[in-house]
Amino acid sequence: MANKFLIVGAGFSGAVLANQLAKELDCTIDVWDERDHVAGNCHTKRDKETNVMVHEYGPHIFNTDKKEIWDFVNSFVEFKPFINRVKANYKGNIYSLPVNLHTINQFFNKTFGPEEAKAFIENLGDKTITDPQSFEEQALKFLGKDLYQAFFYGYTKKQWGCEPSELPASILKRLPVRFNYNDNYYNNPYQGIPVNGYTELVEKLLDSPKINITLNKKFKYSTELNDVYDHIFYTGPIDAFFDYKFGRLGYRTVTFEKYTTDGDYQGNAVINYCDESVPHTRVHEHKHFAPWEEHDKTVYFKEFSKETTEEDIPYYPKRLDADKKILEAYRAEAMQSSNLSFLGRLATYRYMDMHHVIGEALHFAQSFILSLHTENKAPVFPNTEI
Ligand code: UDP
Repeated sequence: MANKFLIVGAGFSGAVLANQLAKELDCTIDVWDERDHVAGNCHTKRDKETNVMVHEYGPHIFNTDKKEIWDFVNSFVEFKPFINRVKANYKGNIYSLPVNLHTINQFFNKTFGPEEAKAFIENLGDKTITDPQSFEEQALKFLGKDLYQAFFYGYTKKQWGCEPSELPASILKRLPVRFNYNDNYYNNPYQGIPVNGYTELVEKLLDSPKINITLNKKFKYSTELNDVYDHIFYTGPIDAFFDYKFGRLGYRTVTFEKYTTDGDYQGNAVINYCDESVPHTRVHEHKHFAPWEEHDKTVYFKEFSKETTEEDIPYYPKRLDADKKILEAYRAEAMQSSNLSFLGRLATYRYMDMHHVIGEALHFAQSFILSLHTENKAPVFPNTEI
């Protein structure tokens, strides 16, 4: 008898998993999503007024160091190369990001070469910090006070709503510091944006006679679902799955103010506003994410960050110590379940990029298929470390 699966959530986790199960198993798969579109926060849609392809939930630039993941996404849709060159606006000046030789020379009004800049910055670093525990310590150790204050303190306080000393060092480790003029925001060798947006990619992942998609469908777990489905894969927020019985996990969310105008507004896809006194964190102008297109008009968004309330879409998991305790309680409960798995950014409560989500979903699908063949218990989570 064919397996009957339910996948809750049509973002990258759910779509990649559905794609792999449909490819490899005799099965039917129901995919439910509470929104009126697939692709989760990667959803893209042409703006009616300007015809620009808009990343509806904020900018997404695909980048990965894994050739197999790059080949996988490129096997569904065409990607065009795109390099994200973010600028920073600080106290009325524009600087290059991520912090690189240009930024250092601009900021300190110098003409350093790479070795001089390295020695200069090393000297600024706080040598009393040996094993940085927080975002702030990581920044102070490797950049010193002035660059930290300018480019990280205000931005991070606005983005996360707390002192950077309360945040883990891992958040800063996402960003490189370079002693050359390379202003590519990412280090990964494969970078691009799908020509027709991310939603088409997700639609193609889900394009199978074995997959039935239901949109605008809110999920609530009940044990009766186990009579209908052989296995349920949940990719929504893990605390919502359990009706918040151990409390709410902390997330930051972002909101956007939309503007349209003629021509070119800021001449670049993303400009970060690093001053604490400027209320928005960044401005993104979406036609610059598709430089292969021509548009007379433009649409741009001011992005604001805030604490997530019940009505908001969760974006960034805060992962403070109190959150991790709550997460542990939910995970322990989830481990007791059978025929249930939790996958993706929201269900595992981790800060994940698209390529991480896709890689993990591909791997998880294989583990699940193996468990069917070996009749072992299906994996509940893709990760053991929280
Ligand atoms: N960050 C900062 N200043 C910047 C850009 C980033 O302080 O101009 C900090 C901020 O805390 C952010 C983290 O670095 O959350 C990681 O930045 P990234 O661009 O990776 O954030 P994301 O793309 O996930 O929004």
